[in-house]
Amino acid sequence: MEDLYTEQGFDANQISIVLVNTSHPGNIGAAARGMKNMGLKKLVLVNPEEFPSGSAVARSASAVDVVENAVVVDSLKSAISGCGLVIGASARSRKIPWPMLDPSGCAEKVLKEHHANKVALVFGREDSGLNNEELQLCHYHVQIPSNPECSSLNLATAVMVISYEIAKLRTVMNQIAVPEEDDFWDQPKSTIDDLERFYEHLERVLIAVRFHDPENPRQLMQRIRRLFGRIRIDEMEMSVLRGILSNVEWHIDKNNK
Ligand code: SAH
Repeated sequence: MEDLYTEQGFDANQISIVLVNTSHPGNIGAAARGMKNMGLKKLVLVNPEEFPSGSAVARSASAVDVVENAVVVDSLKSAISGCGLVIGASARSRKIPWPMLDPSGCAEKVLKEHHANKVALVFGREDSGLNNEELQLCHYHVQIPSNPECSSLNLATAVMVISYEIAKLRTVMNQIAVPEEDDFWDQPKSTIDDLERFYEHLERVLIAVRFHDPENPRQLMQRIRRLFGRIRIDEMEMSVLRGILSNVEWHIDKNNK
């Protein structure tokens, strides 16, 4: 499993989840749990109706630390102060079109920018979402695609989807950053010249053991070249193969005497 909490190249301290005016403390706990599952840890609460709260702690399961470290502020402006990228999650498209992201586009922006900018991901009230003034404090809006007949997700579920997209993209980026074989291999690759000498040697031996008939080659040597070309033999492996061939030759010579 990927370790999303401590991985290098990602800084969870740069990314805040901001919940505006949450009515149900259980949603705060559930959001905190989803955040921690996905490797996020900074939670900011703007005027929560009930906090601190036992039900927030209860719903957070092993993310109690995220709930306990949550910062409570009295306005969205102070929650996002110091942030260079603010993205508001909204189920509805508004009268004034705003730069819109989908969840994966949102994750991409967050990961690309989070080293240079503090990032806030803002979520609205359970009953009425974010108001226009709050939405207009955001650089972008993110909308989670959903059923038009039931488009609004539970607050903690919406936090989960956005956090998951960030986690998912991180795993993809990690895979891209996985070192190439060449970066850690202990031996240099054989040169073309070594390979050519090896093919000549192998061909001589294959003829000697009567596996290969140069009068009727049937593309044998091309296939052998393709095979060894695919595996990028290193110098040590090459000297082992050459040693094997030399031993075979020595035994052939001995038998022929
Ligand atoms: N009834 C409210 C929805 C509140 S849901 C409304 O119509 O706006 C609580 C919060 O979860 C929303 O403010 C938003 O931040 C987030 N959310 C819920 N569904 C979402 C969706 N489909 N896309 C983006 N954010 C969503």
